[in-house]
Amino acid sequence: MNRPAAKEKTRSSGPSMSYLQTRIRASRLLNAARILAIIELTHRLHQAYRFAYDKQAADWLLPQNPAQPQTGTGGHTQTSDCAHIRANLLGDPRNRSALNDAWTRSQFGTNSAHEEGGLLGQVIDEGQPYQKDIVINQTYTTPSTSPPISLQGFTNWAQGQIASNSNTVAFGYWYHTHPFNQGAHVLGFVVGNPNVPSGNDASVSATLGLRGIIVSRTRIVVFDSSGNIQCSFRR
Ligand SMILES: [Zn+2]
Repeated sequence: MNRPAAKEKTRSSGPSMSYLQTRIRASRLLNAARILAIIELTHRLHQAYRFAYDKQAADWLLPQNPAQPQTGTGGHTQTSDCAHIRANLLGDPRNRSALNDAWTRSQFGTNSAHEEGGLLGQVIDEGQPYQKDIVINQTYTTPSTSPPISLQGFTNWAQGQIASNSNTVAFGYWYHTHPFNQGAHVLGFVVGNPNVPSGNDASVSATLGLRGIIVSRTRIVVFDSSGNIQCSFRR
């Protein structure tokens, strides 16, 4: 009596054991998948910190913003458009000195190195003699609380400038400096390539409706509101 009963019990517990083991295996697999996902996310955050310049890079990584910087653009933008942009920015001594001044104020290579920014525009010419060919350079004064690798409050300030001068000035660009070398440690993260616009740079361009200019130690980089580099010139 006892033996068959015991056998029966063993048999009946068989499937339930294996079901349980399957559950445990599935649960382990799920945990492994979770760990892999965490590793992948950590890796991507690390990549964002490494390859995008500004600290705000992490902001666009998590929501999967498609405005990812691209270093390569079609050849056509590098010809006629770029010749025109280059002549406007570097051939015009007023714009050139505005960008050079921003770089100087950034104090590259010192303990006080920090980003500087502003807006470049042109007085709207309605045919009045006093309106003829006047370049406007509005410089942003960064608050003392601004981290050296960002321009805290810049976008709001720029929107205000554009709105309040809309009848008299046509702004064509916003500009800012990237005064840290790739690989520099700033506020606990590693700086990316200074000649690549960050996701945040692209979103500032999109918000303002203006092309952006990066002034780095070696280059002037012009990018559009998607973060695509339109032109890049040696300074
Ligand atoms: Zn930037």
